[in-house]
Amino acid sequence: MPVPPFSAFEPFLSEDEIQAKVAELGAAIAADMSDSENVVVVCVLKGAVVFMADLIRHLPQNVTCDFLRLSSYHGGTRSSGTVRFDFDLTQPIEDKDVLIVEDIVDTGLTMSFLLEALQARHPRSIKLCTLLHKPSRQVKEVPLAYVGFTIPDRFVIGYGLDLEGKYRNMRYIAALPEQTEELLAKVDE
Ligand code: 5GP
Repeated sequence: MPVPPFSAFEPFLSEDEIQAKVAELGAAIAADMSDSENVVVVCVLKGAVVFMADLIRHLPQNVTCDFLRLSSYHGGTRSSGTVRFDFDLTQPIEDKDVLIVEDIVDTGLTMSFLLEALQARHPRSIKLCTLLHKPSRQVKEVPLAYVGFTIPDRFVIGYGLDLEGKYRNMRYIAALPEQTEELLAKVDE
């Protein structure tokens, strides 16, 4: 199937709306972390990479960054429900203030798995920042310290979020037309 061009998708959240929200989140996080010397910003690859890259440029200079990768999706538009580490952080987080940066919290299964796994390493604190939250699909409740946008139950792409590996480099976020979602859900079954 040929991949539709970016222009085939109407913005659901425009580049300006996203950038304004990222600046707002960055200011709130920077104010909250002003008394901390040891902040590790943890990017959950791959989806959060664009958000994290923009967000950290609103944070103070003493933060460090690290990356991990989890898998819960195997293509398609719905979570498989199982989560595992594809690769892990490169440093211990004991006594550090950890800020997890995620693209979207959908069922909450991925973040609840990650929070539990990182808590076991005894960080000083751990907070979660997600650009998007789909509360209607929540299966596990996760404490979200910072949320960019609360969105309805639609499959979204762009600004780091992919559709089968594509569209991460779209500057805005689009919601897939419902027919496309149904089609992909069938492919996924
Ligand atoms: P959860 O475990 O909360 O159900 O799912 C989290 C992961 O599912 C996200 O990190 C993201 O990779 C993927 N995901 C959930 N909803 C969407 C969506 O609407 N669009 C895209 N591209 N990925 C999604």
